[in-house]
Amino acid sequence: MLLNDAFAVRKTHKFLMKSQYWPREELEKYQNTKLRVLVQNSYDNVPYYHDIFKKLNLKPDNIKTKADLHKLPILTKDDLRQHLDKMLASNLKNKAMPSQTGGSTGEPLKFYVQREMWTWANGARYRGWNWAGYEFRDRMVDLWGASFEIEQLEKMSTSFRHKLLRRLTLNTFRMSDEDMGQYARQIIDFKPKIIRSFSGAMYVFAKFVSEHDIKGIEPESIITTAENLFDFQRKKIEDTFGCSVYDGYGSRETSLIAHECEHHRGYHISDENSIVEFLKNDKPVTFGESGEIIITDLHNLVMPWLRYSIGDMGTPKDEKCSCGRALSMMTSIDGRVHDFIVTPSGQRLPGEFFPHLFKDVNGIREYRIVQKKIEELEVEIVRTSDFTDSDFQYLLTHFHEYLGDDIDIEVKFPNSIDWPESGKRRFTISEVA
Ligand SMILES: [Zn+2]
Repeated sequence: MLLNDAFAVRKTHKFLMKSQYWPREELEKYQNTKLRVLVQNSYDNVPYYHDIFKKLNLKPDNIKTKADLHKLPILTKDDLRQHLDKMLASNLKNKAMPSQTGGSTGEPLKFYVQREMWTWANGARYRGWNWAGYEFRDRMVDLWGASFEIEQLEKMSTSFRHKLLRRLTLNTFRMSDEDMGQYARQIIDFKPKIIRSFSGAMYVFAKFVSEHDIKGIEPESIITTAENLFDFQRKKIEDTFGCSVYDGYGSRETSLIAHECEHHRGYHISDENSIVEFLKNDKPVTFGESGEIIITDLHNLVMPWLRYSIGDMGTPKDEKCSCGRALSMMTSIDGRVHDFIVTPSGQRLPGEFFPHLFKDVNGIREYRIVQKKIEELEVEIVRTSDFTDSDFQYLLTHFHEYLGDDIDIEVKFPNSIDWPESGKRRFTISEVA
């Protein structure tokens, strides 16, 4: 992170720490002002949206508030894939930074963001951490997937991160008993105030710590993210470490969408960064009813996320949280359930491993990983013409590096994946207890 970026993030963070207490009307006014700028620029400079407005006989003036958004179609991952070149704003091409996700719902995706979006996203992320008690330079452990090329970088920058930022990263892509024993010793030595982790990995680690009756890991709070956090997981983690769990919900495309505050009454949505809709059959759901989560990001003008269907379900909540923040609220996020893959030799690989790996490979339309027996792993990949032999070798190499050689990996290339009717896409499924 450059120094400039760090200052920019501090600035947005400072803003967000104030705006979280704005009255509801002021937050909405802010959203609508940002929305108008976004819509105008999309119409003027983004070919994909210009065409859509023309086709629907709409002008930017027709979309002034959140309530007008329904006039625009939903943006799907397929739309992004097919029209990526037409989605870039012609006046801001020099600001576009390429990014990608391995697909939290099994579909990798490429897209563009601008630095301002990243800055606002990070400001919101730090705010979520603040709610969990984090202050700048507090000691924090990231029990996190440090993947591949990054693993080397992490090693190089570890002492910098360690000393200056007081951060320690432990790799959840290696979680044998031996690894976890070592992580436990490192955490005891490091004495973090906060531990941050994938939900599933934190649960597995909590079970390990309680089974081995390990003492001395005493953070003030634990932040989980990236996957559904189930109540039984939360309870196990809280009982084991004797502190509260704060769950956050975000994505690589849009960063932090919502986060729990100290009252744990649900998730506060980052209203300053995005407008979130909850839809069922294209109509808004009522409070308390589950709907498809649709995001409009207010800070990415280079490639507008206008009504983006992220692939998760969530439930809007009509309640004023006793923390006094007027940010809108949601409960139960439903969508990201990734099983662990276990191997005969005792390696445990969280489902989050696969999006991390697949994001660096071209030509993958979607994928699913299924383990029916402990010694067998089935990988289904729907590939496009961009998928090469070397991509295939890259995947195999990393599968074997992280899973070992005592598991048979069978890769299939079907034309499509037969997802269940429920619409819930579990792309890592293990039937091994
Ligand atoms: Zn609250």
